[in-house]
Amino acid sequence: MTQSPTPDPASRSSAARAASLLARLKPSGPATFVRAPGRVNLIGEHTDYNQGFVLPAAIDLEIWMAVEAWDKPGVELTSLNLDETRSFEFDGLAPGGRESTSWIDYVAGTAWAMREAGLPLRGFRGVLDSTIPMGGSGLSSSAALEMAATWALADPAAPRPSAPRMAAIAQRAENAYVGVNCGIMDQFASAAGKAGNSLLIDCRANEFQVAVIPAGLSIVVCDTGSPRRLSSSEYNTRRSECEAGVALIAEREKGVTALRDVDRAMLARNRARLPEVVARRCEHVVEEDARVAATVAAMASGDLAEVGRLFAASHASLRDLYEVSSPALDAMVEIAAGVPGVVGSRMTGAGFGGCTVNLVRFGAEEALRERVLSDYPARTGLKPRVFVVAAVDGAGPMATPTA
Ligand code: ADP
Ligand code: MG
Repeated sequence: MTQSPTPDPASRSSAARAASLLARLKPSGPATFVRAPGRVNLIGEHTDYNQGFVLPAAIDLEIWMAVEAWDKPGVELTSLNLDETRSFEFDGLAPGGRESTSWIDYVAGTAWAMREAGLPLRGFRGVLDSTIPMGGSGLSSSAALEMAATWALADPAAPRPSAPRMAAIAQRAENAYVGVNCGIMDQFASAAGKAGNSLLIDCRANEFQVAVIPAGLSIVVCDTGSPRRLSSSEYNTRRSECEAGVALIAEREKGVTALRDVDRAMLARNRARLPEVVARRCEHVVEEDARVAATVAAMASGDLAEVGRLFAASHASLRDLYEVSSPALDAMVEIAAGVPGVVGSRMTGAGFGGCTVNLVRFGAEEALRERVLSDYPARTGLKPRVFVVAAVDGAGPMATPTA
């Protein structure tokens, strides 16, 4: 008998989720709901902080919040996932000075960044529930929390800036207030997602285009069950290595301020001047940017074989040149590659653990799930989770769901 698959948390009905939020909130007047999705990056890894291109989709693993506005200038929020209530006041919000990070800092930081951007705030009581795994899976639960917070905190009477602008405000909250040095991708995808599509984001211009995901394909996210250990220190090292590459290349080439400005020929001309490790990091970024554009073109023309080759090349480059994969991620990709109907498979996110992203022909999702659930634990001793997800719209208010 095969092991029964782990049910997708997203399968819980929206009415049931809304009811449990309301039961906890017990609003004295009308409550509103906001939702914000997590994201998975299809391709374009470690390109965002190099001002390049990424191709994420917002997914239906989401944070939901039930919100009751109140007159107090502050917030009281309960996370059902953590069974914790935390509060803060708008007065005196400032980055720094906290000994440790609490989850409420993502919300307080968003309030701080919105106020810094000149947006009026409203106080609220709220309860949130989330189906985005929090334990280091890398599906951007933090960005979803921030984007949900932007909707809960915004004065509904005030004009709302564009989704890219709100994403930049949330990114500032995470960078400057929480103290996490993330790029713009996570907040952007959660803010601006389009159902059924991915987003081609230009991380320099802070602009995006909708990029169609070919009909007949599902997105399947496989969590390796290994947390992203080392991820933040190695992430910072990679960022410095890229900066070192830019500084050396810019000595000889005009107009280079980020790896975004470096093409293959330029890298080849300068390669001998770069330390070997730096050269490999730069090669990954330059080629990965090109793979993002190639993937968008291949998806548009329905060339699934090419999409599969690009996914495989991206994974190999992250493993061999950028050195941010792990034995668990490699095993997950190898297992998926052997399942008929899997079009492409690669690690996604910063690396060192977390998830793989798979594009899978309709009907092959369960075969992939079964193979992962049987082969992966045997190979790694780790417990995987498999999520068949849909690309959804970005964060926003919801009509109150009814049972
Ligand atoms: P991710 O890749 O999921 O964004 P991060 O480490 O960036 O991982 O952010 C995870 C943090 O976001 C958690 O440690 C917690 O502070 C906060 N968070 C995410 N989801 C929730 C939730 N449902 N309730 C409370 N806090 C949450
Ligand atoms: Mg995060």
